[in-house]
Amino acid sequence: MPAVIDQELCISCGKCDKSCPLDVIHFNLETEITEVIYPEECWHCGSCRQVCPEKAISIRFPLRILVCAGTSPY
Ligand code: SF4
Ligand code: SF4
Repeated sequence: MPAVIDQELCISCGKCDKSCPLDVIHFNLETEITEVIYPEECWHCGSCRQVCPEKAISIRFPLRILVCAGTSPY
């Protein structure tokens, strides 16, 4: 699972789009909606989450990463 945007909190500033090292997040200039368009490409680096001024992004780590880090998802 990738970055997830809470559209209720998002103010469409586009900062997450600019910060993503890949093209996972896209700010649509026409609709002014920011979306996760390539979730399977997400590296879970957390850059988008860090720059979001509204704390609208959460990162959902895959189970394999949580297991490697010794963190229980439960
Ligand atoms: S966690 Fe990193 S790779 Fe994934 S969407 Fe955010 S900035 Fe892009
Ligand atoms: S940085 Fe946060 S508020 Fe700005 S577009 Fe991305 S999710 Fe929305």
